[in-house]
Amino acid sequence: MKILEFVSKFSDEQSCKEYFRDIRMKEGVVCKKCGCKKHYWLLSKWQFQCSKCNFRTTLKSGTVMENSRLPFRTWSLVMLFMTTTKKGISACELQRQIGHKRYMTVWSVMHRLRIVMGKRDDLYQLSDMIEFDEGYFEKQVPEHTKSNLKRGRGSERQVNVAVMAESTPLENLKSGKISNHCRFFKMKVLKSHMATEIESLIKDSLDSKAIVFFDKSTSYFNIENYVEGHLAVKSNKQTTIVMLKWVHIAISNAKRNFLGVYHKINGEYLQNYLDEFVYKLNRRYFKSIFERLVVASVYPYWQTNE
Ligand SMILES: [Zn+2]
Repeated sequence: MKILEFVSKFSDEQSCKEYFRDIRMKEGVVCKKCGCKKHYWLLSKWQFQCSKCNFRTTLKSGTVMENSRLPFRTWSLVMLFMTTTKKGISACELQRQIGHKRYMTVWSVMHRLRIVMGKRDDLYQLSDMIEFDEGYFEKQVPEHTKSNLKRGRGSERQVNVAVMAESTPLENLKSGKISNHCRFFKMKVLKSHMATEIESLIKDSLDSKAIVFFDKSTSYFNIENYVEGHLAVKSNKQTTIVMLKWVHIAISNAKRNFLGVYHKINGEYLQNYLDEFVYKLNRRYFKSIFERLVVASVYPYWQTNE
C-alpha cells in the first residue's frame, strides 16, 4: 500500500475500524472462552458475539492492540510507515510524521509491532540448503563505561547474532556457472557462547532435512541430531564468497540500515530491530506487506494453530 492510497482508503477512524473488523472476520474469530468459531457481529456494540456461549470479543481483544487506547488509525499509520519505508523509520521521525504528542507511545507501538513480525516469522522453519554464520552488531553503551570496555569481535561493545539464509545453488545451463539464489532468512541474537544455545536455535529454526553450511568447524556442537547434513566451508576466500554469500550480504545490509536509521541500538532491543529487518526482507516480493502485517497483528494470543 502506498501512502496516497492509504489516505484515500482510510480517511477516518471508522474506515480503519471496518477494515480491522473485516480482516478479523476473514481470519476467523475463535471464542476465548469455549473455542467456538461461529460468531455474530453486534453492530450496536462493535463486538463479536460467540454463537454458542454469547461471550463477546472486542476488535482489539487478544490482538497486539489489546489494552491500547490509541485509535485504530494511529495503529494503521504506524504499520503503514513501517512497511512502506524500504529502510524503516525511526520513532522520532514517525512521531513527527503522524503528529503524535508522545514519543514513548510511538516507540512502544513500533516495538510491539516488531514483536508481532518476529512471532510471525518464528512460525516458519528454513529448509533445503542453509547458509549459517554469525555477525557482530555494535550496541549502544553508556558513555562513562566506554573506556573500560574491550574492543573487537565478541567484546562487550557488540552483540553476537546468528544469521541463517536459505540458499539454492542454480546452474546456468548456457555458461555452466553456478550461482546461489536466496529465499528466506532468520536472524537471532545469541545470548551466550554456549553450544547448547546454537543447537536449540538450529532445532527450532531449521527443517530436519536441511543441509547447513558453516564458516567454521562444527565440532564444538552436536547438530547431527537436528539436520540432515552440515559442512564447514574452509575459510578459503572464494568458497566463502559463494557458499556464504547471502548471510554476509544480509549482515552488512542490516548493519548499514541500523546505522543509518537508528544509529546505535540498545542491545536489549536488537532482536526487535532484527525481526523487522528480516520480516521485510522475507517479504521483499510481496505486493502488500501492510495487509500482511494487519493480519499478523490481529491474530489473538489464544489462537496458536495456524
Ligand atoms: Zn464461546
